[in-house]
Amino acid sequence: MRALMRGLTDADFERLYGQEEQCLAALLAIRRQAGMSCPTCGNERNYRCGRRVGCTRCNRRWSVTAGTVMTHTKLPLATWFRAMHAMSSTKQGISAVELGRRLGVSYPTAWYLHKRLRHAMSERESLYVVGGPGEDGGAAAVVEADDVYLGGERNQGSGPAGKTRVIAAAERHQGGRMGHVAMQVVSGFTAAAVKAFRDACLAPTAHVHTDGLRAFNAFGTAGRSHQRSITASKRPSRQRNTAFFVLNTAIANLSTAIKATHKAISAKHTNDYLGAFCWTTNRRRQMAEMVPALCRAIATSSRLTRRSVYAKKFVPIG
Ligand SMILES: [Zn+2]
Repeated sequence: MRALMRGLTDADFERLYGQEEQCLAALLAIRRQAGMSCPTCGNERNYRCGRRVGCTRCNRRWSVTAGTVMTHTKLPLATWFRAMHAMSSTKQGISAVELGRRLGVSYPTAWYLHKRLRHAMSERESLYVVGGPGEDGGAAAVVEADDVYLGGERNQGSGPAGKTRVIAAAERHQGGRMGHVAMQVVSGFTAAAVKAFRDACLAPTAHVHTDGLRAFNAFGTAGRSHQRSITASKRPSRQRNTAFFVLNTAIANLSTAIKATHKAISAKHTNDYLGAFCWTTNRRRQMAEMVPALCRAIATSSRLTRRSVYAKKFVPIG
């Protein structure tokens, strides 16, 4: 297990992505793979011209970072790649303050970089669902789901006031192994929110297991498969391979990651935080491939500007 978790060492990272030119080549290759057509004529063929790309048909030129979360960046690509490595090489991730310290950039720059990378991860993660057919024809995993309250003032009791509501789901494979996880901010723990979460995050064939919360019955509507367990105690089980063990582990890991990287997360940014957490967790067995994976997430990300980041009001599903 240890060996599987091993990622790219700092020395390997420096060898592969230490120079601006290497980062540019890596980003361009992945953007071309993802499909980078000319904004004017739609031509898929292009040539490189410094940090810009030119269309072979109409000669329109654009930046290799255009149209993605990197739009308008003035930072060296080597700084972006260092940020990608720093943010994806540990399970907890790192705080914007720590990122700034490591990269030698100001806090606002680090925060914005952090935000854009999390947004790219979160967007990429939203393309996937949990609870699909098993790999290699194996048995499908059970999807465990539960309600989670995040944030609010610390040490202010455990009531839901001021807290962000989240639905979390985790695949439990035979033998108790954790599969993929999905988490989303919801407007409340209502049937409508549960349905919206189900449609966004779960495969149509997913078999969902929850506790007795009434709203969770919505997991079983529209011909979906759902099992409820009315548990006497909400205490998380410490026993591997028991119901909700993997889900409780995922939620505990989330809580550890938040404590390690944030004093508080505002509700507006929680969904990107959750998406980034799930993105990292779901790739934990390919730690050495995190940088190219994050490049792919950037290559398919939507354009994000300073204005949209600060102005965007977040509306939870449900
Ligand atoms: Zn063109």
